[in-house]
Amino acid sequence: MTIIHTARSLAGAVLDLVAPPSCLACGAGEMGDLSLCARCRDHIRPMPDAPCRRCAGALGPGADPAACDDCARLRPKFTRTVAAARYAGLVGELIRRAKYGRDPLLAVPLADLMRRAVRAGDSLRDADGASLVDIVLAAPANPRHARERAFHLADLIAESVAADLRVRCRTDWFVRVGNPEPQAALPRTERRKAARGTVALRRARRFEPTWKSAPAPRGLRVLVVDDVLTTGATVNECARVLLAAGAAEVRVAVVSRA
Ligand SMILES: [Zn+2]
Ligand SMILES: [Zn+2]
Repeated sequence: MTIIHTARSLAGAVLDLVAPPSCLACGAGEMGDLSLCARCRDHIRPMPDAPCRRCAGALGPGADPAACDDCARLRPKFTRTVAAARYAGLVGELIRRAKYGRDPLLAVPLADLMRRAVRAGDSLRDADGASLVDIVLAAPANPRHARERAFHLADLIAESVAADLRVRCRTDWFVRVGNPEPQAALPRTERRKAARGTVALRRARRFEPTWKSAPAPRGLRVLVVDDVLTTGATVNECARVLLAAGAAEVRVAVVSRA
């Protein structure tokens, strides 16, 4: 019985090697582009053709592409936003699964999508393909969630984008201050106020190894990466802190736009 069982699992292992790997999202379909099957890829909700250049929000008819109504009113501290897909359908589901589960493999299709959007647009590369930012930073994790999660999705995506742009990446520059209240129920302007003071740059520690040197954004063009942008309150706070510390400019890249 045991021998038959072993022979069967061996056959299974050989089959796994021969058969094409399966889709990272559903585990059933055949893996293709973005490490997903065709069926899952169909459930990615693309961004509108020409969203607001500043926040990647949807523009009403006749609106100014340089700044939507929200941006004109709230004047975000960041200048551009690249978003890869809508926070809906498959991408919304993968982000929720990756954030609340412990499966870092789900970051693979999300990082692929993000890199593709960065390559396709002109917000982060010039005509020769050179990076328009000097460093990539990951938006900070919410401390309540960070403790129970095995990894931080924004870190994995930031590292992938930085490698593609061939610039430095730091995932440890930001820290959360205090324990921000859940903001889901607050209107946009209130979220901005609630977010104020919840993000800071990490202070240098004595005897820190040189590779882990203190945050020094002075004069840098910075890209802040996060998994989802809803009102932009968190990335706006990151941008405010960076500019106050002397950063030259802050741009944003998010896998999804709510
Ligand atoms: Zn699939
Ligand atoms: Zn906007």
